[in-house]
Amino acid sequence: MKVGVLALQGDVEEHLEAFRRAAAELNISAEAVRVKRADQLDGLSALAIPGGESTTIGKLAQRLGILDRLRTVVESGVPTLATCAGAVLLAKEVRDSVVGPTGQPLLAVLNAAVVRNAYGRQRDSFEANVDVEGIGTVRAVFIRAPIFAKTWPPARAIAHVDHPRAGRAIVAVRQDHVLATAFHPELTTTAFHKAVLEMAAGRL
Ligand code: GLN
Repeated sequence: MKVGVLALQGDVEEHLEAFRRAAAELNISAEAVRVKRADQLDGLSALAIPGGESTTIGKLAQRLGILDRLRTVVESGVPTLATCAGAVLLAKEVRDSVVGPTGQPLLAVLNAAVVRNAYGRQRDSFEANVDVEGIGTVRAVFIRAPIFAKTWPPARAIAHVDHPRAGRAIVAVRQDHVLATAFHPELTTTAFHKAVLEMAAGRL
């Protein structure tokens, strides 16, 4: 199978590598490719939307004419992993913890309200062990991370953290074939990439 990583900005290489390692661990033959143009979305069995800066990724996607096609691909049921900025792009409602509504270009397919930069500045980045329903315990790295303020069906929370200032926050969400995380699993684990590959292979 062919799996794609949206490669406009952000930690693209880490997702490509995580897909390769996940495929090897599952004994699935999968080629991981960079997606920069709409035609490169054709024939993908799974997709990752990386972390980075969601406004930049969204604006680039819009300018390159890939945003609408990307939305169609996710809506069509291609198993998708979206991490951090990627999760922001997928959400239906987005605001920033300081500046409020952002008006940024969105895919708006995930039934979730997201607050960007919810834990403060870069220096407030942190790590935690997180129990994720259906995935297991993972080491989670939060870098200027968003939180999911709420979800509504068919989206549902599959992981939480208790943060000293932010309180109990939703940090991972599943909606059908879509997994979205506020943290960066591509930096520490192959578990999420394996989950979307298994969805693609019809095992999960
Ligand atoms: N703060 C970024 C945003 O809101 C996300 C940060 C990240 O992807 N690590 O787009």
